[in-house]
Amino acid sequence: MLKCKYCSSTNVTVQAVESHKKRGILMSIVWILIAIVTCGLVILIPMLTKKGSKTKSVIVCQDCGKITKV
Ligand SMILES: [Zn+2]
Repeated sequence: MLKCKYCSSTNVTVQAVESHKKRGILMSIVWILIAIVTCGLVILIPMLTKKGSKTKSVIVCQDCGKITKV
């Protein structure tokens, strides 16, 4: 049974969200560092890391409104 990890309510819904926008500034910095270290080999990496608009599920609590990762 799914439940909210904040208030332990079972009054929750599961929603699908797109996760591709999670790749933020930190990831870009890491990517640049890797590019420097590997002398450009990292050009190949976006093909490995970009998985398009992959969706994931999150639990949305109807009582406290908090979102919990599944
Ligand atoms: Zn809750």
